[in-house]
Amino acid sequence: MCGVFGIYGHPEAANLSYLGLHALQHRGQESAGIVSVGPDGMHAQRKMGLVQSGFTTSVLDQLPGAMAIGHVRYSTAGTSSLRNAQPFAVDYQHGSLAVAHNGNLTNHHALRTQLELRGSIFQTGSDTEVIVHLIAIGAQPKIEDRIVEALRQVEGAYSVVLMDKERIFAARDPRGFRPLCIGILPSDDSEDSKPAYVVSSEPSSFELIGAKLLRDVEPGEVVIIDERGISSLKPFASVERKMCLFEYVYFARPDAVLDGSEVYSARKISGARLIEEHPVAGATAENTVVVPVPDSGLPAAVGLANHAGLPFEMGLIRSHYVGRTFIEPQQSIRHFGVKLKLNPNAAALRGKRVIVVDDSIVRGTTSRKLVGMLRGAGAKEVHVRISSPPTAWPCYYGIDTPNRSELIAASHDVAGIAAYLRADSLGYLSVTGLIESVRLGRRELGSLPNWTDGGFCQACFSGEYPVQVPDPEQVVPLRLING
Ligand code: AMP
Repeated sequence: MCGVFGIYGHPEAANLSYLGLHALQHRGQESAGIVSVGPDGMHAQRKMGLVQSGFTTSVLDQLPGAMAIGHVRYSTAGTSSLRNAQPFAVDYQHGSLAVAHNGNLTNHHALRTQLELRGSIFQTGSDTEVIVHLIAIGAQPKIEDRIVEALRQVEGAYSVVLMDKERIFAARDPRGFRPLCIGILPSDDSEDSKPAYVVSSEPSSFELIGAKLLRDVEPGEVVIIDERGISSLKPFASVERKMCLFEYVYFARPDAVLDGSEVYSARKISGARLIEEHPVAGATAENTVVVPVPDSGLPAAVGLANHAGLPFEMGLIRSHYVGRTFIEPQQSIRHFGVKLKLNPNAAALRGKRVIVVDDSIVRGTTSRKLVGMLRGAGAKEVHVRISSPPTAWPCYYGIDTPNRSELIAASHDVAGIAAYLRADSLGYLSVTGLIESVRLGRRELGSLPNWTDGGFCQACFSGEYPVQVPDPEQVVPLRLING
């Protein structure tokens, strides 16, 4: 789970990359990095932790030039080290190259073995490094052809930003698992001023720096940004689009627009749809309150409460000084983490039937704890509503999910999960309901050239993997260290 950013043609490229990464911080909190191209070549700075803590003014001062790419990274325990922080920057026979990647390459083990057998020496444990080596051994004279050839060999999910000393490339795998978009920063009034171009995992980072969303990078497209502006290659055979549904459920920021669909609208609609699919019998505005699990359950709870005509209450108060719960990989710490992050608000709960809304249940730790906390604070009944289908299968395409054995929905049916949570009732949104919500969240983007109403990857809900993966029943999922 990562975020990528790139900027071409701005004198403050590194500073704007810092801001861009700041707006993508939710996509990865473990390390952050920026590589810029100055008059004397590439400059790289990578730091562990949050963008804000690692990138002080003095660090940014060491990143001169008008081009930069950046990365924020999330990985699980044991794989967290500066060595694996991106963007990678290398010098090779054709010059310098920097790479930042979001997604997981499903065939990286096999490719790495082949590359090592022919002499490549890897410096990290990251799947992304395979792309670097494949480009480095490419025989084609043009960099764009070497990139295309390298990407032709990798399988799985990638939204990748690459940079040499003259241009930036932004590419998305043929299924478009992970998002990637392009924006423009208008030029100033001076005569020779040109617009700057930006690339980002989510458009939320554009607003912060005054850029405008132009469009999404299409699945299978390689965009080239250089002194002539933007050009595009479509070198791969077209396959059905498989944008990740979970981006809309949880991962992307609610103010993002991904492939033309507004995440906030999709989440709100999913809440309305959820209460239609799973009403709470006897709920009235007098006896019931709708309580979001902040922040992930907020938009769906708004949609649910509006649609059902029930009062929306802040029955759980979030500490803003704790990150995403998932960040603590150990069960013992995670358990404590919920309390650290959320506190029940008795004033909103006392004597009420509570419909508590969250985006997903993974291990069940959070929801079980919350049900207990809500009851403890005076809720008469607790009805759990989840704005996505049961997460029963691990993701191999860039969302960090635990082993199948740790996913509560892999071993329990809905009644079993409700019993584990000690909830009065539990309802999950259907896959159809979720896909319809995302489609209804679509907004017309004047400049979005060819929205195609393709499919979505729903592997974590259905176990139907669009690109071959190791048998999820047999094999411990790859603990890839980036993406
Ligand atoms: P759990 O206690 O394992 O059931 O955690 C569930 C909560 O973690 C959900 O309510 C989500 O808000 C959040 N979540 C779900 N999937 C992920 C993920 N892949 N990474 C981080 N957080 C997640």
